[in-house]
Amino acid sequence: MRQKQIDLPADRRIKRWYNVIADIPNGVAPPLDPATGQPIGPDKMGAIFPMGLLEQEMSGERWIDIPEPVLDIWQIWRPSPLIRATFLEDALKTKSKIYYKYEGVSPSGSHKTNSAVAQAYFNQREGVKRLATETGAGQWGCALSFAAQKFGLECKVYMVRVSYDQKPYRKVMMNTYGAEIVPSPSPDTPTGRAILAKDPDTHGSLGIAISEALEDAVSRDDTKYALGSVLNHVCLHQTVIGLEAKEQLAMVGDYPDVVIGCCGGGSNFAGLASPFLPDKLAGRKIRLLGVEPTSCPTLTKGSFAYDFGDVSQRTPLLYMYTLGHDFMPPGIHAGGLRYHGMAPVISALMRENLMEATALHQLECFEAGTLFARTEGIIPAPESCHAVRAAIIEATREPDKPQTILFNLSGHGLLDLASYEKFFAGELQNYALPDEAIAEATRNLPKL
Ligand SMILES: *Cc1c(COP(=O)(O)O)cnc(C)c1O
Repeated sequence: MRQKQIDLPADRRIKRWYNVIADIPNGVAPPLDPATGQPIGPDKMGAIFPMGLLEQEMSGERWIDIPEPVLDIWQIWRPSPLIRATFLEDALKTKSKIYYKYEGVSPSGSHKTNSAVAQAYFNQREGVKRLATETGAGQWGCALSFAAQKFGLECKVYMVRVSYDQKPYRKVMMNTYGAEIVPSPSPDTPTGRAILAKDPDTHGSLGIAISEALEDAVSRDDTKYALGSVLNHVCLHQTVIGLEAKEQLAMVGDYPDVVIGCCGGGSNFAGLASPFLPDKLAGRKIRLLGVEPTSCPTLTKGSFAYDFGDVSQRTPLLYMYTLGHDFMPPGIHAGGLRYHGMAPVISALMRENLMEATALHQLECFEAGTLFARTEGIIPAPESCHAVRAAIIEATREPDKPQTILFNLSGHGLLDLASYEKFFAGELQNYALPDEAIAEATRNLPKL
């Protein structure tokens, strides 16, 4: 029998995060205060994030200890399995080896729970009583609802209206974990009320929901804000994925030629791929490949510039690949990889040519996800289908040059079956964002 799942013995468990910023040549540019154009100080950010997380956000230390209480809760699903996709390999008739790190085993079903638990811990440690956040597709809201409950924090989630209506079970899931959830725009904030007054039937957007959650957090002393991707501390928390995977591969004497992850805001890819960077810098041949949808091609077609994280221009300016803060993702796309920006950490790796990126159409991704489900059994989240597809392309491209491939199966798709239903019914279409739309979307980048 071939070995399928690779265990990680207790003495090789991960106890420190890897901070890739320590190793990125030419560094990562600091966030700027949009009012002054100067680097923003921790004092201003202190209104929305706890100091423990801000320290990580600004840290240049290579290794950062993972607190005991975080490790304790992580034990529910960590170490996550590293699985060799033997049945998929057979179906592809490839000599390549395909390994996947499966993050769908977390309580909320994706990698996002890793950072949610860490963020809830640092907030509770500093006396915060309540967290406010936004969620688009719903994965982050579910992850934070669970984490907040574990640390006795209240949690309020502003969920983009269109998802709130289309994904009722996400809402039930968050309620089950004890969170309060409202469709955004909501009557609970000034921004929400203003938008509702103008357009009561609006679908909402992630940018609006971010603005509402931020407003909520700054309006109350007991409340802070939490973000599920993009920021340095989120990417840091996710490095447990890659650190575990390295240890697990070492257990079977393997090492990847290519490491693959889908890229929304960049956190699951950063988590899996960045721990391999030191080897790459030391001369090892390894490719780090980020995968995005053709409908939101931030890394492959975006501009590298300072931009806001939200539509209402409330966040600090981040130096990143961006399609522009007022980019509106096309509604026909089912995947959740629709954010206009990319993590500054990932953007810097791209700038330094230390990673590469590719954009894929959604139909080929759902096809790949379906093949994966029929062979390996797990139904991938629509986002994760992008990584599955890229892994299949790598495994089959040059039959005479088999590779060892590692990809991140960032979550399962059991709460996204409506997307699969649409795919099977032929209701999904491919959509590549036209160049004119990209030029238009990036026209309003802030001028510094
Ligand atoms: C949110 C999400 C993503 C995209 O976010 P990243 O920050 O790029 O990781 C990918 N996969 C799943 C399952 C998600 O929930």
